[in-house]
Amino acid sequence: MRPATYFPSFDHLTRTGGAQEAFHREAAALAHAHFGRKVFVRAVVEVSNFCRQNCSYCGMRRDNRELERFRADHEALAELIIEHRPASVTDINIQAGEDAKAVREVVVPLIHAIRRATNLGVSVCLGSLSDELYDEMQAAGASIYILKFETGDPDLFHQMESPGTFDDRLGRIRYLASRGWNVSSGFIAALPGQTPEQMLKSFHVANQLPLDGCSVSPFIPGDETPLAEMGAADINVTLNSMAALRKMKPEWVIPAVSALNLAEPGAGYRRGLRTGANLVTINMTPEGIRGDYLLYKRERFIMTEEAILRAIEAEGLEPSETGLAQYYSARRAQLAVA
Ligand code: SF4
Repeated sequence: MRPATYFPSFDHLTRTGGAQEAFHREAAALAHAHFGRKVFVRAVVEVSNFCRQNCSYCGMRRDNRELERFRADHEALAELIIEHRPASVTDINIQAGEDAKAVREVVVPLIHAIRRATNLGVSVCLGSLSDELYDEMQAAGASIYILKFETGDPDLFHQMESPGTFDDRLGRIRYLASRGWNVSSGFIAALPGQTPEQMLKSFHVANQLPLDGCSVSPFIPGDETPLAEMGAADINVTLNSMAALRKMKPEWVIPAVSALNLAEPGAGYRRGLRTGANLVTINMTPEGIRGDYLLYKRERFIMTEEAILRAIEAEGLEPSETGLAQYYSARRAQLAVA
């Protein structure tokens, strides 16, 4: 792994005005140097909102007794993906709360069905699971695992009731990478009470992990959570964090997360693309269940293909015809030859 030559200071994360614009331009230029003006386009399906974890910032936490829980039907999802996915989609991301039952009963059969009928790449974002379940999904054909470390500060991790323990979470990320997964992680910007030192620790942790990508999500006070009355993250800190990640790891895949539009309605998402984000996500979760996938707000901001393609075009970018899994696999082959 190439050591980072850049590391942000807190001053970088709080830039505004002209200094911020120049910082974001610099980050975007690095993304274009590595990936051209191409942006990977994936679709997400959210297959279960059962979760055995209890993160303070998430409405799907196990203590939320108000939430109607669902597990999706894998056959209906397979038909949706195989027959009706938007044309620009090259990869499918399967996401759920931490729900081993859904992995066995919904996710594994769904991966098999996608693999049999399409050449789509498959990524999964399903939490800390047993080695056996990871292996089963990999054998079925998934190759990218998204496991966020949430915050680089162990005390804040504990205070926020983030999933499991901090050390175990990092251990799971390392394990997945050692088993040949392409691993992406992520952290939350501006959690309530987060100090500048704690914020910078997230960069230290990201820098040390064997990752291929990392996201930054703005803290959004989630409905039906203990943090519902807190203030949302400053969009500028979030975007500056994305730019700093890009400077630290120019070769990483960094998504524009839909919550950017909750942090700054109407503009946040495009500003994310302007910092050099190179992965976008169309939401394909069936309408009947997505309202209960309560990551942030009951009123969700749903990214459609039309909205995504409009944002990409407006920023002078293009959808990548090469899929993300395909890109990783070609890069791995190149590195093996070199
Ligand atoms: S953030 Fe993930 S692990 Fe935590 S409660 Fe929500 S769905 Fe569960």
